[in-house]
Amino acid sequence: MQTGSMLIRGGTAVVGHTVSRCDLLIQGEHITAIGDLAEAEAETEFDADGLLVLPGAVDTHVHFNDVFMNTVSVHDYYTGTLAAAFGGVTSIVDFSNQVPGGSLAKTLSDKEEEAEGKALIDWGVHPVITEPTDEVLDEIPRVVDEGAPTIKCYMTYREDGLLVEDEDLKRIVVRLTEAGGMLMLHAEDNDMIEENVPRLVSSGKTAPIYHARSKPPEVETEAIRRIIQMARETGGRFFIVHLASDEGLELVRLAREEGLDVTAETCTHYLVFTEQMLEREDGIKWICSPPLRDRLIQDQLWKGLQGGSIAMVTSDDAAYSWQAKLHGIDRFDKCPNGIPGIETRLHLLYSEGVAKGRLSLPRFVEVISTAPARLFGLAPRKGSLTMGADADIVLFDPEARWTMSRERLHMATDWSAYEDIEIMGRIVKVFSRGELIIDADQCLAAGGRGRYLHRRLGPTFRGPK
Ligand code: MN
Ligand code: MN
Repeated sequence: MQTGSMLIRGGTAVVGHTVSRCDLLIQGEHITAIGDLAEAEAETEFDADGLLVLPGAVDTHVHFNDVFMNTVSVHDYYTGTLAAAFGGVTSIVDFSNQVPGGSLAKTLSDKEEEAEGKALIDWGVHPVITEPTDEVLDEIPRVVDEGAPTIKCYMTYREDGLLVEDEDLKRIVVRLTEAGGMLMLHAEDNDMIEENVPRLVSSGKTAPIYHARSKPPEVETEAIRRIIQMARETGGRFFIVHLASDEGLELVRLAREEGLDVTAETCTHYLVFTEQMLEREDGIKWICSPPLRDRLIQDQLWKGLQGGSIAMVTSDDAAYSWQAKLHGIDRFDKCPNGIPGIETRLHLLYSEGVAKGRLSLPRFVEVISTAPARLFGLAPRKGSLTMGADADIVLFDPEARWTMSRERLHMATDWSAYEDIEIMGRIVKVFSRGELIIDADQCLAAGGRGRYLHRRLGPTFRGPK
């Protein structure tokens, strides 16, 4: 019997497309055997009878310490990864904005400093280009080599210094794709927004619902149309973050059929909430971009997720304090865009997806864990229960029922968008690299144990088989 060995016995494991009762042997940080291990022995044993055994969730869209709209997100590498762990997330990838005049390499060293002594789970970085100078473009191969092959740009937020013009996006994607990377885009048409916002505000339409009216689905569709044209012209590799438009979804489906390298994700909140939330008195809680949509579009997003046109689901965790959200109380356009959601994704996708018959159990695991790991260069180490993979494991009770609300969550905000939601299923234990880090209501791990995830992308998507 090896020291540091551990057996998880009798659970129902989701392994690829198979759901079956089996045992898992963990030695040190890795999964070393899966199957009927009745003969095996280990130092520690866990009885997982009646529980689901899932790979730890992977969240490739979070904003820690993010300076945005005159505020900064309250999740840092301790509070953010703590809430992540309670939500069954064992790997995150965070955005790091190039500061004005700063280098691209600095986006990585900045996060190394932020994570030092704080990160509780493994973490990676997506550099964000805000000033596409020649020097910055020359740095692209270096950050790819340093394990950050996915770079993000914004097609809007000119006032916040984030907007990058299409001609520059094309230059970036060519260099990045050559270097083995992928360009992530926040797809919203800036011209349309810059026309809509002043028009609404000057006519006194400043309540939260007008945030949605200022960015109707066409705003997203137009930006996605331009991305697809860029993909056609450059042969570049693109990833559309937080897709929330049915027409945009259809464009992505057609682009992939055409053989273009365009992949899209959606986020938890688009699947759970509709724009009706913006009509409430506390509607500023649900101001995010793209905005929440109507029920018809939400249904299409679920269908896109079932059918595979949407590859995966992330949280887009952007946790601003209530005080900061209040900047928008009389002016939707002054409200920092974002919803804290790093902790809620697995539970909501299980409860709203699997328990309601919208997602199969393997597809659920795929969209929250396997696909993000594969598409963002973390497989096979992360994202699946595989021999040799990191022992990042969630034990989940599919029969437990509970009510999600701020008191039951651990996110650092003093408010929650997820109040009084009936949830089916509950995380029981979370392991990260073989270490039990979450045991029911308790976190057993200390900040600083999380490691930098050096990522490398797999072969590019080349359209239909
Ligand atoms: Mn965004
Ligand atoms: Mn985001």
